[in-house]
Amino acid sequence: MRFVIARLNHETNSFSPVPTPLAAFEPKWGEAASVAARGSRTPMGAFLDLATELGAQITTPLFAMANPSGPVEDVAYQQMADAIVTAVAEGCDAVLLDLHGAMVTTQHDDGEGDLLERVRVAAPGVPVAVALDLHGNVTQRMVDHADIMVSFKTYPHVDMYETGAHAGRLLARMVAGEIRPVLAWRRPPLMTHTLRSATGHGAMQRVVQAARRAEQEGLLGVSVFAGFALADIPAPCLSVVAIADSDPAQAAACAEQIARDAWEERSGFVYQSEPLENSMRRARELAAAQGSGPVLLLDHGDNCMSGGTCDDMDVLRVALEHGLEDILVGPICDPQAVAQLLEAGYGARAVVQVGNKRPLAKLGITKSPLVLEGTVRAISDGRFTITGPIYTGQAVEMGRTVLFDTGAARLVLIERTQEPLDLGVFACVGENASRARYLLLKSRMYCRPVFEPLAKGVVECDGRGVTSSDYSLFPFSRVQRPVYPLDPGTRWI
Ligand SMILES: [Zn+2]
Repeated sequence: MRFVIARLNHETNSFSPVPTPLAAFEPKWGEAASVAARGSRTPMGAFLDLATELGAQITTPLFAMANPSGPVEDVAYQQMADAIVTAVAEGCDAVLLDLHGAMVTTQHDDGEGDLLERVRVAAPGVPVAVALDLHGNVTQRMVDHADIMVSFKTYPHVDMYETGAHAGRLLARMVAGEIRPVLAWRRPPLMTHTLRSATGHGAMQRVVQAARRAEQEGLLGVSVFAGFALADIPAPCLSVVAIADSDPAQAAACAEQIARDAWEERSGFVYQSEPLENSMRRARELAAAQGSGPVLLLDHGDNCMSGGTCDDMDVLRVALEHGLEDILVGPICDPQAVAQLLEAGYGARAVVQVGNKRPLAKLGITKSPLVLEGTVRAISDGRFTITGPIYTGQAVEMGRTVLFDTGAARLVLIERTQEPLDLGVFACVGENASRARYLLLKSRMYCRPVFEPLAKGVVECDGRGVTSSDYSLFPFSRVQRPVYPLDPGTRWI
């Protein structure tokens, strides 16, 4: 028995100015793909373990993942897709793919749909199992060309491996002739906000619980996809995929019920932004209140793990205008400012233009850098190892790193984009994050397990970056209307 196993992961923010060439994926091909995936807590890691357990031969054409950014360059997508399709065409008994589900290329709205169709054409009748991210924008084409489709059930995503194991187990049973999976898919016209797709509370928690219950009651797999709304495609919407054994009506009824549940709760998937001025007022109140630790200012409008530039200065600018002091900020990706400050040297005073260097062309927004005067307090190589609790053990390289002290704020300036997932972001320049009065983090979710426990309070700040939660900023041109919440009176028949 031969399995083709591969990973190709990208969440595309159509509005991001950050390019996505082949190099962004750091692709591993052939044997190197297997080495990269084995032992990882990814779906592909689970697929490989399953293949070993079953004694299957494996072909691993690709292991590739890029951080969220703008549309994938089509030539890069084609090269990676060709590797997978060629391996499948050479002959196999099953295909297991570790995909995201929200990939857009410069030529294809539906990257995964295109890939799955090509796989199907290359090997008609060969079972195809897919593990997807909870933020996948699932389409009819994807569902038509897969036999098994399972998504993460957690956000933050802590069940990647388990999702792969689930999809793999179903595939093994299908290949053995024990089950005949049938898929049903329902998609209400509902664009969610990422900040409302966390599975620990609210509407998303309730629909995911319903999916788990349906699995306990006999469905083979039930997945709720929150979708990724910052994609200018026909339907960047929530959807539900249910898998039943030989019973299309059962799958359809389940998908319909859970999609209806989500639709009934649609307002619970909408994040209401407040003006930054209000956020600053609340931050000051929190800082003045009892308790210890910093007040977190979460700049979720510029999250580089969702396509953000990591250099938007809205939140810091407004914080300084409101007279906040003792603000530790970071990291901000600005290689030019880093070079200037390194040139100035340790201990030097300097005036530099910081941030807002990448025009947000697709939003029609151009901003000026902040002109800041300060002192170079520390210089680092920007390397550290994550101590957790998530991504524990991963090595981080932020490039050359400078701590720039303007008096009211201390900025960690770096050369490569990096979400603040770990205290190491600040510790590498000698800063103890828990001592600051305010901690301005360019993050929406992944900073929380690390920084919330040491914080006095959290204020979500909606800067006007490319991951803003204010959808009125985004010139959606391809999204089918009406859709909720862009069109508040939308009905779903
Ligand atoms: Zn996701």
